Amino acid sequence: MSETNENKVSDVEWRQRLTDEQYRVLRQKGTERAFTGEYWDTKSAGVYRCAACGEPLFSSATKFDSGSGWPSFWQPLGSDSVVTRVDLSHGMRRTEAECGRCGGHLGHVFSDGPEPTGERYCLNSVALALDPDDSGGRGADGE
Ligand code: FE
Repeated sequence: MSETNENKVSDVEWRQRLTDEQYRVLRQKGTERAFTGEYWDTKSAGVYRCAACGEPLFSSATKFDSGSGWPSFWQPLGSDSVVTRVDLSHGMRRTEAECGRCGGHLGHVFSDGPEPTGERYCLNSVALALDPDDSGGRGADGE
């Protein structure tokens, strides 16, 4: 498995690894249309991984319904799993969220999220891959 040096993956290789839409979002900082992605309304339990490199990024336990049409979380899984940077594109000052491992663009962070963090990680479904939690306990539909 190529578990190392994800930051050295060439652009050509990313094009081969990712679908066109994944490439547009993850590598070109695109945004999927609201209410069109796979996970905006998903309530299943599990871990959301980076669609590009597989890094665990967010737990379903911190996912909430933001009404935005994009999957939204109030906290990343670990302090290093997601990195943020100022994004001044499109005439706005926003905070961009990237995968801490491969640098893939995930979405943006806003300060109108719920407690306890008050943050809203507004992400693109296509940048994520849900790893369902099927290790017993509560099922996807709450049993
Ligand atoms: Fe990644």
